[in-house]
Amino acid sequence: MSRLFRSVLIGATALATLAGCATDQGVRTVGQRPEALDTTEASLWYQMDQMEESLLTSGRLLEDPALNAFVTDLVCRIGGEYCADIRVYVLDSIDFNAMMAPNGMMLVNSGLLLRASSEDELAFVLGHEMAHFVENHALEQRNANRNAAVTAAIVGSVISVGVAASTGVAPGQGYSGTSGSIATALAYGGAFSYSREREAEADRIGVELIAEAGLDPTAAPRIWTNLLDELKASDDERRARRADRGGMYRTHPLIQQRIDTLSEQTASMAMIEPRTAELDAVVSPHLKDWLDAQIALRDYGSSLFLIDRRLETGGHEGILHAARGRVLAMRGEEGDREAALAAYQAATQYDDVPADTYRLMGEAYRQAGEPAAAATAFTTYLELDPNARDARLVERLIETLSGENS
Ligand SMILES: [Zn+2]
Repeated sequence: MSRLFRSVLIGATALATLAGCATDQGVRTVGQRPEALDTTEASLWYQMDQMEESLLTSGRLLEDPALNAFVTDLVCRIGGEYCADIRVYVLDSIDFNAMMAPNGMMLVNSGLLLRASSEDELAFVLGHEMAHFVENHALEQRNANRNAAVTAAIVGSVISVGVAASTGVAPGQGYSGTSGSIATALAYGGAFSYSREREAEADRIGVELIAEAGLDPTAAPRIWTNLLDELKASDDERRARRADRGGMYRTHPLIQQRIDTLSEQTASMAMIEPRTAELDAVVSPHLKDWLDAQIALRDYGSSLFLIDRRLETGGHEGILHAARGRVLAMRGEEGDREAALAAYQAATQYDDVPADTYRLMGEAYRQAGEPAAAATAFTTYLELDPNARDARLVERLIETLSGENS
């Protein structure tokens, strides 16, 4: 363990002891497992072990060796010798979330990987989760049993979503329902509900861990700011405010406060140029699938926010413009159809344009009453993807369009 890690943790423990916190479980030792079998801790571990086992066969894990190795390496880079106690799983779930169970099972959602704009930001979230783990927060929380039950429910429904997905239920309609990424973003920290003090402690330690690992500490307030901006852009949020339910300002007034605290903590720390290359390399093969899953949530505001932010950073323009077009076509507000067509056309200017963009573009031209352009786009689609599942259907469309055209 790094010296700083140790001193940060010992400091935190000393403070808690001084405050006379009876529930403080202290800092976990490396390789720690519950000794007595009849304790709350043992039952929590047992349930988590069961969860982990079902997760392995759930079909919900992304079994991409490069992606898994990258996240695991990052965990080890900030976690030092605790690394050996932690098993990292990448969950195919577009919600912004990460979760760390007391038995060492760490779940990292694809939705977090989609949203982290640098390795530093991702590392901060991992460091935050790791702090809960090392500080034994799950056990300290008085409602440890409730925590276990909630986690069981969430991991359980994650697994059942896997079953649902294979039987044709749209992905993204998981435990968080229609609000998807945003709902779980609000429950950041995942299945375990921690007190505000423990969340603040995890944030603080998370910053120390990434700084110690030579990563950029200012990534901590940044990922929260980005999330807050996404929430503001979200259709769920707009709907909530229109319905006079106050939206996130009512349900989660603490986000800005966390940003302020993290900004204060990192203000005097040197900013390090954020690293993006390795994260981008492992995310790239999944980017289209993840955006498709995000778009399927029908939170247009949130999706456009994520797409536009990526467009600003550069790279993947074919995939991103095409995704933008899809969101606009689905939203269908005034001017959206024209804007969608323009976005598809923009996507075709780049080498990474997905083949199905031409099918979407054909559809857009057809709706715009341009059969010749539609037929050309559909033809290109079949040239690029001759074995497409809807190839027959598209062939027939082309025939019909040629008829209209002559
Ligand atoms: Zn937390």
